[in-house]
Amino acid sequence: MSAILIVEDEKHLADGLRFNLEAEGYVVETVGDGEAALALLLEERERFDVVILDVMLPGVNGFTVVSDLRRAGQFVPVLMLTARGQPEDVLRGFEAGADDYLAKPFDLSVLTARINGLLRRRQWFHLDQNNLSATDANTKNDVKEESGAADELFVFNGRTIDFGALELRTSEQTVRLTLMEAEVLRYLLRHEGRVVPRKALLEDVWGLHEDTDTRAIDNFIVRLRKYLEDEPTKPKHLLTVRGVGYRFVTQ
Ligand code: CA
Repeated sequence: MSAILIVEDEKHLADGLRFNLEAEGYVVETVGDGEAALALLLEERERFDVVILDVMLPGVNGFTVVSDLRRAGQFVPVLMLTARGQPEDVLRGFEAGADDYLAKPFDLSVLTARINGLLRRRQWFHLDQNNLSATDANTKNDVKEESGAADELFVFNGRTIDFGALELRTSEQTVRLTLMEAEVLRYLLRHEGRVVPRKALLEDVWGLHEDTDTRAIDNFIVRLRKYLEDEPTKPKHLLTVRGVGYRFVTQ
């Protein structure tokens, strides 16, 4: 049975969610502020399978909670609840390390679909870890699009991206990736050599259709460059295509 932590200060909303999610068969706990969420999630790292995190909280807000979790190496999937019509909140949440988002108010059926999506992704990112096959930089990377199989290692430029373990490894360090970082990387690798418009990234990976400020995507790409490039300010692999978007090349 999957365990969900709801972080929401509006008690009627938290209780309503708990009631409905328990009826769907989840084990649910609620906390009313960010400090309590951080304490619980850092104390018992394996206890919850998904966190539903409201952005607007008293004290420490949702953005800070998720970035503090990631900084502390806690990579439980986080679904952020944002205010409708605030796409910059969505992007800020992804930048902070969230995995998915839902704008308030929402239908319960949409919420449970998103929760199940996060649980499924978490599972298939961890599938087949004993059955890994490395691809080298000269081999076409064949990430399977819809199968859900985690094709696990992608090796280039002295880096190994391990989609099974959600890690990027170099000789010096191992970086943990959020589900969203892994998905953006997968998307770029899948379109290797081709121009990926910002709009396509927004729609296909982030599920955003709004007319969104794309600077937040650029910030996200800057972070990925720190993982992928020897000199992040002079990228050789994750290239900017001026006025359009990005292009990933292995050579
Ligand atoms: Ca709130």
